[in-house]
Amino acid sequence: MHSLPDFLAHYTACPDCDLLLHKAKAPAGYSVVCPRCRRIISRSTAASIAKVLALSIAGLLLYLPAMLLPLMTFKSFGFSGSANILESILNFYRNDYYFVALMVLLSAVVMPLILLATIFLLSWQLQRKKYPTYLAGLFRIHLHLEEWAMLEVYLIGILVTIIKMSPTSDIDYHSGIFCFSCLVLITLAISSIVDRDLFWQTIEDQSHEDEKETLSEQHHQGTASTAAEKGLVLCHICHKLSPTTLAGTGCPRCRTNLHMRKPHSVARTWALVITSAIFLAPANLLPIMEVDFLGVPSRSTILDGIIHFFQDGSYLIGLIIFTASILVPVFKIIGLVILLRATRPGHHHFLVQKAKLFRFIAFIGRWSMLDIFVIALLSVLVDYGFFTSIHTAPAATYFSFVVAATMFAAMTFDPRIIWDACYPDDTPQYQEQTATPLGKTL
Ligand SMILES: [Zn+2]
Ligand SMILES: [Zn+2]
Repeated sequence: MHSLPDFLAHYTACPDCDLLLHKAKAPAGYSVVCPRCRRIISRSTAASIAKVLALSIAGLLLYLPAMLLPLMTFKSFGFSGSANILESILNFYRNDYYFVALMVLLSAVVMPLILLATIFLLSWQLQRKKYPTYLAGLFRIHLHLEEWAMLEVYLIGILVTIIKMSPTSDIDYHSGIFCFSCLVLITLAISSIVDRDLFWQTIEDQSHEDEKETLSEQHHQGTASTAAEKGLVLCHICHKLSPTTLAGTGCPRCRTNLHMRKPHSVARTWALVITSAIFLAPANLLPIMEVDFLGVPSRSTILDGIIHFFQDGSYLIGLIIFTASILVPVFKIIGLVILLRATRPGHHHFLVQKAKLFRFIAFIGRWSMLDIFVIALLSVLVDYGFFTSIHTAPAATYFSFVVAATMFAAMTFDPRIIWDACYPDDTPQYQEQTATPLGKTL
């Protein structure tokens, strides 16, 4: 008979559907995928720690120039305006759009720095084989905050701004835009290279606590089941399995509170979805931007802006803004309602599709910030005195509420509840599963 730590070391559970899986190590460059809901369980990269260390050092070196150097200058009517990332945020603050300023500050400045600093410290310590006790907490913070850094969305915002203004202004590009683009590429590379399993395993091996319990026979039966049915609970941050007796206390590896399912997941998600649906109305009906042309102010809503792009023949930009600002929030709200309804017992159709829908919703949420980033840039760059200037209008605040609320809604929703609602009678009985290496990803 295996001891409990032995068993736990060889098993994991799918974070999205709770299926108990025999751990499989994929060859470098491959992913391991859950056979039931198709979620990627782990990714493997050769020399992950060293690569992450090198990239995070490069990222930290580029960080200050990327934030402080001017990105570009717009010139028109003999006036010119230039801006860096920080100024574009300060402008919201000066005009009393505090919540918008806070959202942009967090997503484009603060979170990216915290992510770079934590992953640098972590990979540096692991690389030199030092394991201070704070490493687990550090990695936990990193994973918690990951979704709130939106540098790549900001970069697309810069591109949209350039395309929008190029017909009417001369644009000079400065070194800031080069540093910022490199910083975006580096942060994207880091997030695809971090081998979470390896990082957690390395941290854990140094602080191993021996558990003396042994498993009862039921842990060794051949048919597969969920972790919950086997009396196990998966940590939603570090993905370590623990016995359910630990539920309600801290995960032995990363100290996150362990829950069988995220607490009050359905009720909280409903509350957030309804909140975002309510704010969606003023966000779309009120003006989001004001353009002063020769002293005459004209205010436009999100939809006005999109129609303007289409009339100008900038179909691609129109389509991008339409997707990010209107399609994504509406799709997220409808998708979450579908998922919430699927948590009721007896809703067992299209489970794999619903699991994919959940992952897609979690992935697209941050892209709705695009329009806010564009307005942040336009309002500092386009200030041609009496001729033209661009200001933020009230819908920006409501729109930021919608983005924040839908992102929190996706985070509080626990996709395992969908599978709980149907198991065990409705889904095919799975034989004991090994997470299978599938497809080269890098
Ligand atoms: Zn799964
Ligand atoms: Zn944990």
